[in-house]
Amino acid sequence: MVASSDRHRPCPMCAGGAWDVAPEEPSTRCPECGQLVPDVTTLIGRITVPPDVIELLPASVLRADNVLPCEADQASGALTVATDFSDRATIEKLRFISNRAVHVVFAERRAIASALDRHLGTE
Ligand SMILES: [Zn+2]
Repeated sequence: MVASSDRHRPCPMCAGGAWDVAPEEPSTRCPECGQLVPDVTTLIGRITVPPDVIELLPASVLRADNVLPCEADQASGALTVATDFSDRATIEKLRFISNRAVHVVFAERRAIASALDRHLGTE
């Protein structure tokens, strides 16, 4: 055990980086720990998230906090959500509500809102 344990503490914002970022992929830096986090702003305009993943969190929460569930790991159950990093308390709340590990990727606010409209309807 070396005295570097602080460095391995999961970051509350990005939770240790869920998706590896290839150099050619869009990315942004976590404002909390500075590590590279995938920027899925363009991607979420194209993907369709399976209903069982969307439904891991209540639609009202997704709307209120402007987060888009993207993927649930089949093995670990860890949930990857897209957020614009505006509210770190939200991440803790999502962990609590879903009872899963939550990994965060970045997307611009408007892209998340429009992906939510597409998946949940515009009501
Ligand atoms: Zn971080």
